Amino acid sequence: MTEWQKSDWRQKPRVQMPDYTDGAKLNAVEAKLSSYPPLVFAGEARKLKAKLAAVSRGEAFLLQGGDCAESFGEFSADNIRDTFKVMLQMAMVLTYGAKVPVVKVGRMAGQMAKPRSAPTETVNGVELPSYRGDIINGFDFTPEDRIPDPDRMLQAYTQAAATLNLLRAFSTGGYADLHKVHSWTLGFVESPEAERYRELANRISDTLDFMNAAGMRDEAAHAMQTVDFYTSHEALLLEYEEALCRMDSTSGKWLAGSGHMIWIGDRTRQPDGAHVEFCKGVINPIGLKCGPSMTSGHLKSLMQSLNPNNEEGRLTLIARFGAGSVGEHLPRLIKAVQEEGANVTWTCDPMHGNTIKSTSGYKTRPFDSVLREVREFFAVHNAEGSVPGGVHFEMTGKDVTECTGGVRAVTDEDLSSRYHTACDPRLNASQSLELAFLVAEELSA
Ligand code: PEP
Ligand code: MN
Repeated sequence: MTEWQKSDWRQKPRVQMPDYTDGAKLNAVEAKLSSYPPLVFAGEARKLKAKLAAVSRGEAFLLQGGDCAESFGEFSADNIRDTFKVMLQMAMVLTYGAKVPVVKVGRMAGQMAKPRSAPTETVNGVELPSYRGDIINGFDFTPEDRIPDPDRMLQAYTQAAATLNLLRAFSTGGYADLHKVHSWTLGFVESPEAERYRELANRISDTLDFMNAAGMRDEAAHAMQTVDFYTSHEALLLEYEEALCRMDSTSGKWLAGSGHMIWIGDRTRQPDGAHVEFCKGVINPIGLKCGPSMTSGHLKSLMQSLNPNNEEGRLTLIARFGAGSVGEHLPRLIKAVQEEGANVTWTCDPMHGNTIKSTSGYKTRPFDSVLREVREFFAVHNAEGSVPGGVHFEMTGKDVTECTGGVRAVTDEDLSSRYHTACDPRLNASQSLELAFLVAEELSA
């Protein structure tokens, strides 16, 4: 067999990718990106893989979250900080409940290409190509904006690099120091969750004071001062992915340099398609969305091609069936994994199977359905003797009104007030924290 090449995907059928009309411009952008530094390096991807292996054994818990789609317009330090902050808060709540380390992975620093249910959309009788994420075309409903523009990849790269830079600064520069657990509550919108979080923060501070007084060793002290935070996105736009693909000089293997973990969407997981072909050849941890149409046959063939050496931590299966449907679909996939003796990390995306259109016309997700799907996911895994490794949320640190429900109930009528997402509806800060407390209860049960 000939060796895998980063451009092999070009020979395979592709779906959900733009048709760029200006070939010369596309080539120029690809050449430029290929000459730029990668955003992550291989050692980090390997470290994340080891952590995901621990998740698959039940020795750690995975928290993956962030925007459905990062946009150029919403790009700011405050937005990055707020999402990072809520993820730290959620991770703390989960660590406290699960009594295992929480692996933190943002849908950040590259989550900018979107698969769509239809190639075009029609508004007031006008039909235009669908919006596909800021890395591809523009959100405004104009013919100009909807033309795929290769130059957007350069802006996306710059944004991803700046986002990752700030995340690295927050992770190790003092912001994530556990001793500052109280300062993460600044700007909290008051809610029962905020109150519960403060109580937990008090307990943690007391424990740290005690450990300090008892003479905590340097190593342990250091572990409390920094966090490991990883980035991830859907590897949809393969021209961008290929251009950032790099050979790791220590191992001679290929790395997707665009982020630590990349995933394959539920609409682009054809076993013989371009997206699977690309992901096959890179050493990063790979996520695979598993929706209702995934058969055990598909899954077996995908596990074979994406993880032929059955490496732990390489493949994360992201279940997304919808509340009420987990019992119908998840057992056959868990059985397929067990029959193959395959090593996989299981996580639950309770967002994408629970999207509805509200009476006010907005796309939304009821908080109760999100929670219910998570509970069903845990119950099925427990019944099948499998490990429910983590959760995958679309969320933001901002006080948006995009998903309905939660203790500070967002109603259908509220949706129009702060509906800012460029794509799917996200949990707001308070809903995210509430969910973390409820998931922590499941974990400690
Ligand atoms: C997403 O994660 O934003 C997404 C489009 O998910 P899925 O591929 O599961 O539909
Ligand atoms: Mn989404």
